[in-house]
Amino acid sequence: MPTVITDVVCPYCGCLCDDLEIVVEGNKILEVRSNCELGAEKFLHVNAPTRLKTPKIRVNGEFREVSVEEAVQKAAEILVNAKKPLSYGWSTTECEAIGLGIELAEEVGGIIDDTSSVCHGPTIIALQEIGISTCTLGEVKNRADLIIYWGCNPMQAHPRHLSRYTFFPRGFFRGKGQEERTLVVVDVRATETSRLAKQFIQVKPNCDYEVVSALRMAIKGHKLPYEVGGVPGEKIEEIASLMKKSKFIAIFFGLGMTMSGAKHRNVDNILLLVRDLHQFTKCVIMPMRGHYNVAGFNEVCTWQTGFPYAVDFSRGYPRYNPGETTAADLLARGDVDAALIVASDPVAHFPKDSTRHLMKIPVIAIDAYESLTTEIATVVIPAAIAGVEVEGTAYRMDHVPIRLRKVLNPPHGVLSDREIMARILEKVRELKGRTQ
Ligand code: SF4
Repeated sequence: MPTVITDVVCPYCGCLCDDLEIVVEGNKILEVRSNCELGAEKFLHVNAPTRLKTPKIRVNGEFREVSVEEAVQKAAEILVNAKKPLSYGWSTTECEAIGLGIELAEEVGGIIDDTSSVCHGPTIIALQEIGISTCTLGEVKNRADLIIYWGCNPMQAHPRHLSRYTFFPRGFFRGKGQEERTLVVVDVRATETSRLAKQFIQVKPNCDYEVVSALRMAIKGHKLPYEVGGVPGEKIEEIASLMKKSKFIAIFFGLGMTMSGAKHRNVDNILLLVRDLHQFTKCVIMPMRGHYNVAGFNEVCTWQTGFPYAVDFSRGYPRYNPGETTAADLLARGDVDAALIVASDPVAHFPKDSTRHLMKIPVIAIDAYESLTTEIATVVIPAAIAGVEVEGTAYRMDHVPIRLRKVLNPPHGVLSDREIMARILEKVRELKGRTQ
């Protein structure tokens, strides 16, 4: 008999929607009830042909299937023998596994970094410098009357963001939903999201800093020149006036802001815009976090080490210096001599120089599916999928912790990231002659 499991959390993007219904029979998913193809695909493809089920070790250039114990032994040997191992990935697994991964990085005197360093790392640097005025997505739903998306396209990357949290839903103080809200999109090109907006502001590429500065001037009553960053001065003044008249503004920004032009200075500037607006109205801002638990890594890493990502333990204490201790930079400089990659595929996404070095050093890949990184790895350990086959904790983009549910059993003999981390950590301590 099929069973319907309700209130399932979607472990795909930073929205962490917690209202999915999954129809299961035996150990098979028959149907996923949600309004989002991205999330549904994650559940429906757990048994894709690329699913990893057996650990492998590379011997003389060829993979040999081994037991979990052999794979763990080999992984521990690589990490103990390395002078400066890198641990990277972590944004698509649960917090308990991340906590153990950080402990392991400290134990082997390595560096741990997550995908923040190639997405919202600049945001974190900026908010450490300026501070952030933010709130939960629930408050946005209940209060916001002006929604601004800057440098992001949630209709593609976070498909239910507008319908669950921002523009469409009815909220406590916004009982008529979208009728009581205005949507503004700022981007370098028209997108599915901008097509829904009342105002679309098209900015020239790499001119976000200038346009934010112009908005800050307009809010303070200064007259603007004819055009700034491709946007007519009158248009900027119109948006500034709309902002000052609104009761509760929610600004969401993506990689179009963090990874273009002035990078973290763009974010500094928009955080200052929010501060300026507080002279007139209430305004909050939030980065659109991509991977479902990238915020969770930043939380766990901060409470265990004092820093949110890119933490270097090689001197025996935690250091944080993005640009120096971030994964892509370390690899490009050839500064690490082994790598542990968890739930990520840097070979597919990192710059060429970083990938080249990754291909020269021993790599331990822990993942549920084959990828370019598992292809070049020395040790491959299959993992159960958090949020589908394993419970755990993840942090939504507004830093609200949500408990992931388990709806299926993992393939026979496949362990969770947390169990794999615990075993490697135990083996590392054994090899170093330290048991706890
Ligand atoms: Fe999953 Fe994101 Fe879609 Fe929500 S919006 S169902 S979290 S992919």
